[in-house]
Amino acid sequence: MRAMMIEQFANSFVCDLVAYEPGKPIDETARELGLEASEIVKLASNENPLGPSPLAQAAMMAAINEAHIYPDGGGYRLRHAIAEEFSLSMDHVILGNGSNEIIELLCHTFLNRQAELIAAEHAFVVYQLMATLFGARYVKVPDPGFVHDLDAMADAITPQTRLVFIANPNNPTGTMVGQAAIDRFMARVPEQVVVVFDEAYYEFPENPPDTLQYVRAGRNVCVLRTFSKIHGLAALRVGYGLASPAVAKLLQKARQPFNVNAIAQAGALAALKDTNHIAKTRNVNLEGMKFYEDAFRQRGLEFVPSYANFLLVRVGQGDQLFRNMLKQGVIIRAMSSYGLPDWVRISIGTAAQNARCLEVLDSVLAPA
Ligand SMILES: *Cc1c(COP(=O)(O)O)cnc(C)c1O
Repeated sequence: MRAMMIEQFANSFVCDLVAYEPGKPIDETARELGLEASEIVKLASNENPLGPSPLAQAAMMAAINEAHIYPDGGGYRLRHAIAEEFSLSMDHVILGNGSNEIIELLCHTFLNRQAELIAAEHAFVVYQLMATLFGARYVKVPDPGFVHDLDAMADAITPQTRLVFIANPNNPTGTMVGQAAIDRFMARVPEQVVVVFDEAYYEFPENPPDTLQYVRAGRNVCVLRTFSKIHGLAALRVGYGLASPAVAKLLQKARQPFNVNAIAQAGALAALKDTNHIAKTRNVNLEGMKFYEDAFRQRGLEFVPSYANFLLVRVGQGDQLFRNMLKQGVIIRAMSSYGLPDWVRISIGTAAQNARCLEVLDSVLAPA
């Protein structure tokens, strides 16, 4: 008898899904190259090159002693601190196992097989993965010059649209849309649409637009922020959403009861107040950004001016370049999965990491 294929009993949109491909891990690379982990330079996942907030580290050490107790499922202290930070009330705040979880909760709450999710052509790929998992229609709107075209995105809204995702600054492009475009967009959005501003890199640009005004005004908006980038806590998996109480209440119903662990809550709470670490991180990023921009200009390499902590640069064969740099222990990100085979994305590191990255990039790009 021929064996049955279990796939035929699974949801077709799950079978067809191409899983998210994370940045190549340091340990795996070190093993493959026979190097020490400390010799690897990873500039592939927009992580904080200065490491975790020192205040967060101390708080997490203390929290370990209570690891036998279930976490506060309501996340009271962290939500309270976040609400205070932005002059909102706690019922505006939802915590997630990374802001990625909140993306999933939004899809759980608002998508089905008839619904549409709108995003920009080169937006963060997780939106498409999630929309697909819920069997919804994913509508891609062209983004000329890699900048979200919010007027075109508003034009794309139909009665089936439930979610619009605006990544600002966007990953992997690093571009940002300004206040005027956002205000014009918000004036056109109908009530049955929840607008999601994914602001994972909010703390990096000089003058990011104010989207919290729409949360305060009670619009159907969810602003996503994370502890993974500026605070250097990517391993903890903690992010948050700021939404109108009506939207936040629905999202709270869709989550697991203990979705954010106690050590993460303690670390995030301390990191929120670590203004020193935040300022240092911004400075290192600014310096690194200048370093790469100058270097790319000198070499005649096209790049997309970035408001975040990474740069998209055009190198020709991105997959090949990724592999060649990997052989020398420098991990960057190829962009073919974003439909950009000529480009790579480089996260800004410390001065030493950036210098090493450029050295290896030069050696690989040099004509043989
Ligand atoms: C890094 C990133 C996130 C953060 O994800 P976490 O789950 O909070 O680690 C969210 N959105 C975008 C666009 C990102 O680049």
